Amino acid sequence: MSYDVDNVFARILRGEIPSERVYEDQEFVAFHDISPVAQTHILVIPRAQMLGSPAELSKDDVEWVGRMVLVAVSIAEEHGLNKSGYRLVMNSGSDAGQAVAHIHMHLVGGAELGPIA
Ligand code: 5GP
Repeated sequence: MSYDVDNVFARILRGEIPSERVYEDQEFVAFHDISPVAQTHILVIPRAQMLGSPAELSKDDVEWVGRMVLVAVSIAEEHGLNKSGYRLVMNSGSDAGQAVAHIHMHLVGGAELGPIA
């Protein structure tokens, strides 16, 4: 899924579409998913990396992807999910149902989640 400069997350970053932000720093923005699948459903996105999906990642991306995972873990902790648990998901491409061509991570929790597959 190649990057689309007008994808909804790019538009959220540019402030063209509103979002309910729960976290932001120089590298990442996190906001509530518009269509949550559980009580907590937050998306974490990078500001600068113009990658359409995880399929476009390379060794150059190892460090910021690691930092994105840690941001998601820390948001999970802030939302009280540490004890009950949560799921971090990155969809890539059509079989995964990826809808937005801006690489992102889902943080889902607050309910018992079914098996991933
Ligand atoms: P994907 O399926 O690409 O991994 O996930 C995209 C996610 O973005 C979906 O869970 C969808 O509900 C969410 N989403 C799509 N459009 C918007 C929007 O305009 N605002 C927010 N907050 N989430 C959105």
